[in-house]
Amino acid sequence: MSEPAIRLTGLTKTYAGGKQALKGIDLEIPRGSIFGLLGPNGAGKSTTINILAGLVNKTAGSARIWGFDIDEHPRNAKASIGIVPQELVFDAFFTPFETLELQAGLFGVPKAKRRTMELLKAVRLEDKAHVYSRTLSGGMKRRLLVAKALVHNPPVLVLDEPTAGVDIELRQLLWDYVRDLHAQGTTIVLTTHYLEEAESLCDRIAIINHGEVVANDETSKLLGTTGDKVLDVVVDADLAAPPALVTCKSVELKDPRRLIITFDKRTTNAGAVLAGLSAAGVGIIDVSTREADLEDVFLELTSGKSAAA
Ligand code: ADP
Repeated sequence: MSEPAIRLTGLTKTYAGGKQALKGIDLEIPRGSIFGLLGPNGAGKSTTINILAGLVNKTAGSARIWGFDIDEHPRNAKASIGIVPQELVFDAFFTPFETLELQAGLFGVPKAKRRTMELLKAVRLEDKAHVYSRTLSGGMKRRLLVAKALVHNPPVLVLDEPTAGVDIELRQLLWDYVRDLHAQGTTIVLTTHYLEEAESLCDRIAIINHGEVVANDETSKLLGTTGDKVLDVVVDADLAAPPALVTCKSVELKDPRRLIITFDKRTTNAGAVLAGLSAAGVGIIDVSTREADLEDVFLELTSGKSAAA
């Protein structure tokens, strides 16, 4: 069966106040992928995930999870997905062990098939199994929520901003575990605003903006869609404003002695840009160049378009 892990067709959401959060999203998330769903604040990422989670009712269109339509087969659809929510919400007076047992009960997982200790071990919380959840650190709570999303062994795991507020070391631990799950066959969908993270983890990325899909491609192809190159220039005297360079796409004054200059390598080159800086009376101390990264692609696709209604 070649049905994708998730298929959204014309997915539309208009909130009660009239805000059109999703304007007909068409999106396929292939089975076996690590898929990044990116977009600026207010783009519609949470709305999309909340529709999949059954927390928000769509206005129109359809959503299928592992081949199950969320309207026609809601139980099967729900059983096919585990969602790690953005907020750290759970009952502080249950222990991690109890939290997972309760969740397994809600999903009708028979006692003999529960993997409570195995899951706690996997997220390195086995020594915290029987303490009150309220005593866990932010990173531990996040990992408990990952374990909670996995009690019913869903083929699709969605992580909504999973590393917000999680320190670097634990972030690594979380990603290692997510990679393991992926290697064992789980399809992973994540939203994150850490673009570097998405760039290194995801094999496909969709970018949504103002409730519409503006890009959807393999990560490597997405990075190749821009001809942008970036020059990072240290100058010899404080600048009050960035110099105007007409051949460049943007000139940003990062601090008084540092310029970040983006240009299209198909129309100009670094030598010409630096000559332009000299001609503008700017003394150059150091220069480095890099190819555009996901952040540049993201900004190009999501900036400058005015917010509709
Ligand atoms: P994202 O997760 O990408 O930041 P959201 O899906 O949270 O975006 O929001 C998309 C749009 O819908 C935003 O303009 C937001 O203000 C609006 N929105 C989200 N939730 C509600 C709600 N419950 N009622 C009204 N508008 C909402």
